[in-house]
Amino acid sequence: MQNPIEMPAQTEMPSAAITPPARPAAAERVTVARVRCKSGFLLCLNNAGSTCIMCGRDFCSQHGNEEQGVCRRCRHEYARRLKHEEAAYLETIRREVAESRNAHGLCGNESCENAHIVTCERCGSFYCAKHWGRYSYNYDYRSRTGIKRRRATAVLCSSCKEHLSDYRKLAVYKD
Ligand SMILES: [Zn+2]
Ligand SMILES: [Zn+2]
Ligand SMILES: [Zn+2]
Ligand SMILES: [Zn+2]
Repeated sequence: MQNPIEMPAQTEMPSAAITPPARPAAAERVTVARVRCKSGFLLCLNNAGSTCIMCGRDFCSQHGNEEQGVCRRCRHEYARRLKHEEAAYLETIRREVAESRNAHGLCGNESCENAHIVTCERCGSFYCAKHWGRYSYNYDYRSRTGIKRRRATAVLCSSCKEHLSDYRKLAVYKD
């Protein structure tokens, strides 16, 4: 005669209480459908309004530059790329100027009235005695017996001499 005591307890449970996950699940689906920012320091719950042109991450207005389309994580790399592109552009112009000046027998350096005498081994244009130089540099030569320090020279114009360190770096891998 103990069944009647337990039975009412079970039937009193509202059937609706057994299936509450239905509503929260639907709400969750809506949140997932929105594009979340993926460029926060830890977890950013903001909606992402832009996609990074560098890495493809979606980001919010707080974690990136929406105008440039670059996320927070890529801003340094992007600045580096801009700088590099600008330098490359200026270098192209410089070489064009030097080429046309050389065609008239003049030194490649803008506003130099001297005649050209030597070709720069980096940019290939011709320069006067004042605007070229022979620069020496040391580099590590790798061979089977080990690394040896060697010395070399490069004939460079006054614009290219600032890239002498590139010669040193590149020469390291020469074998
Ligand atoms: Zn990025
Ligand atoms: Zn964010
Ligand atoms: Zn040069
Ligand atoms: Zn010159």
